[in-house]
Amino acid sequence: MLIVMKPQASEEDVRRVCEKIVSMGYRAHPMPGAQRTAVGITGNRGPLEPEKFESLPGVAEAIRVSKAYKLVSREIKQEDSLIHIGPSAGGVTIGGRELAIIAGPCAVENREQARAAAARVCQAGARLFRGGAFKPRTSPYSFQGLGEEGLEILAEIRREYGLMIVTETIDPENCDLVEKYADALQVGARNMQNFSLLKRVGRSKLPVLLKRGMSATLDEFLMAAEYILAEGNYNVILCERGVRTFADHSRNTLDLSVIPAVKRLSHLPIIVDPSHGTGKRDNVIPLARAAVAVGADGLIVEVHTDPDHAISDGYQSLFPEQFETLVEQVTAIAGVLGRTVVSR
Ligand code: PEP
Ligand code: MN
Repeated sequence: MLIVMKPQASEEDVRRVCEKIVSMGYRAHPMPGAQRTAVGITGNRGPLEPEKFESLPGVAEAIRVSKAYKLVSREIKQEDSLIHIGPSAGGVTIGGRELAIIAGPCAVENREQARAAAARVCQAGARLFRGGAFKPRTSPYSFQGLGEEGLEILAEIRREYGLMIVTETIDPENCDLVEKYADALQVGARNMQNFSLLKRVGRSKLPVLLKRGMSATLDEFLMAAEYILAEGNYNVILCERGVRTFADHSRNTLDLSVIPAVKRLSHLPIIVDPSHGTGKRDNVIPLARAAVAVGADGLIVEVHTDPDHAISDGYQSLFPEQFETLVEQVTAIAGVLGRTVVSR
């Protein structure tokens, strides 16, 4: 159920509605919007009676939510959500007119490699740095990441280059550690339905970059995000990174048609990962251009100064010069759509 407040409802009215919901044993999720505030209810097992709420001061109406997901839905919040990464003054906002580009290597391999990539993406104007310290690998024998040492290197990069750090957490236990170092927590494709991890990042104060599972439908993707919002963390950025199909010319099939579909159903921003989405360096720039054209709110791209010797995902990592070209080209396309690219 969704309680829609009147445009002139006071904070006191909203608080009273939330108290009522809590007193019934449920959780209240006030979502302020430009026109009005809506309050979502979670935790109820069956339908609730609208009359219980409609008699409270400031309430316009109580409506049943038609979708299985509630908090991620446009029914609760009509305006696009703006998700802020980094310090309140000087961070980056995703979901508005400005497109955010997150760039860096697949994994933090060592200090020199990570710093070299940071220097180049910084030079190209990026403000957000990616790099896994914990890598969820298909094989248990592949490089699993440097762990805390990798996180320390990322923290150094933040200090030195002023880049904000987006890095992956792979289970609820290591989340405590990753949270100490990251500006945003990445939940990878392989963990999109790791429900204990989703609940854990749902209790974090940091924004979450949630990647689409490699065989997830749109509903499953949005329901995964719903897990995070239901725990009280409304700062979720979705990421399309390609799904498995019969196509064998690319690592995954980048499903750009999901962007307008998500935009119609949800207020959450969505960015695109053309690196994992294609698996091939030469296809990254064309798909990045297409992603921006189709309405993505940003990109996450793998960049390496020596991709031929990268420990993971070298074949899909851009050379720094290619990343500069990507930034230039997507900036031009963004302009056609009345958008700009965040830069320093
Ligand atoms: C990554 O971003 O390095 C990664 C492992 O991506 P995905 O979870 O999309 O495979
Ligand atoms: Mn990778």
